[in-house]
Amino acid sequence: MTLAAPVRPGPQDPSGPFLLHRVRVARRRRISDGFMRITFAGPTLDRFADPGLDQRIKLILPTGEGSLDAMPMCTDWYARWRDLPDETRPVVRTYTTRAVRPERREVDVDLVLHEPCGPAGRFAAGCREGDEVVLLGPNTGCCGESGGIDFRLPPAARTVLIAGDETALPAIGRILAQLPHDVTGAALVEVPNASDGALLPQHPGVRTEVLDRAGAASGTLLHPAVRRAAERLLTPHRAPEPEDVDLDAEGGMLWEVPAEARPDAAFYAWLAGEAGMIKAMRRTLVADLGVDRRSVAFMGYWRAGRSEGS
Ligand SMILES: Cc1cc2nc3c(=O)[nH]c(=O)nc-3n(C[C@H](O)[C@H](O)[C@H](O)COP(=O)(O)OP(=O)(O)OC[C@H]3O[C@@H](n4cnc5c(N)ncnc54)[C@H](O)[C@@H]3O)c2cc1C
Repeated sequence: MTLAAPVRPGPQDPSGPFLLHRVRVARRRRISDGFMRITFAGPTLDRFADPGLDQRIKLILPTGEGSLDAMPMCTDWYARWRDLPDETRPVVRTYTTRAVRPERREVDVDLVLHEPCGPAGRFAAGCREGDEVVLLGPNTGCCGESGGIDFRLPPAARTVLIAGDETALPAIGRILAQLPHDVTGAALVEVPNASDGALLPQHPGVRTEVLDRAGAASGTLLHPAVRRAAERLLTPHRAPEPEDVDLDAEGGMLWEVPAEARPDAAFYAWLAGEAGMIKAMRRTLVADLGVDRRSVAFMGYWRAGRSEGS
């Protein structure tokens, strides 16, 4: 595929944590019943860093019939983007990097084909080679860490519980691929179609369980499976008394990631998916089973009935 004339890099800080890239769809491939893998290509993607794990990125799409010309391609893009009129403000959605090939200036993202659908789901189902989007991703030129990674294994942790729904599958795949081989535990993924589970790599110490939702509500299978796995894995690490905290206090999207995990923690858990399901699993782990909140990342990746950012 021939790309259009190279896009001029905008006034972005070349050593800032993140960079915006104007890119085009190079390939689109149905990799399972529920996932479309989209390969983006663009002249500046050699500067897209790839620390892996659950690295989150932004996929920025034109509104309705609009173009991306209104997108402010600058370091303080967020404030300027927020001030744009609704009709021209591009849509921003959060995804995980599945693969980066800087030498080919390509990035792969695996998108769930979901119903009900939003702008990103529609894009996944209907985009064509050459369609233009903007990606915001970590910068190879950044001196420190760019941020956007929430899987932070404490140095002493050798038992893990990793769980999520289909939106967390790309992140779980990359986490398993990078997890040290002496770590043991369980990785549980609830998916709408059994074929989606084939996208996960194997890990020598972590037992992967793919739960086929088969039309049931989010979390129907995952929540009890997380409880069973936690009970099994936690026996040697359980805190003496369950925490007495109000776990329903906050509204909105649940995002609770320990700023600094306990360095001596032997157990670490990472849970991501539909926000209501994650909230229910947090109650089970923290209030019922007494897991130390400083050893768990709880992340609402999307919320039933709500668009991202609403
Ligand atoms: C850190 C992070 C990483 C993520 N990584 C990925 C990833 O790699 N791949 C991926 O596919 N998703 C990923 N997601 C989830 C993705 O951002 C959301 O699913 C997003 O809402 C999709 O945008 P949309 O425009 O299609 O739908 P929106 O406009 O946000 O929502 C429209 C409607 O669709 C519903 N909806 C949204 N997502 C789903 C879903 N999965 N199943 C059923 N209904 C849904 C909403 O509840 C709403 O009713 C990630 C989210 C976060 C926060």
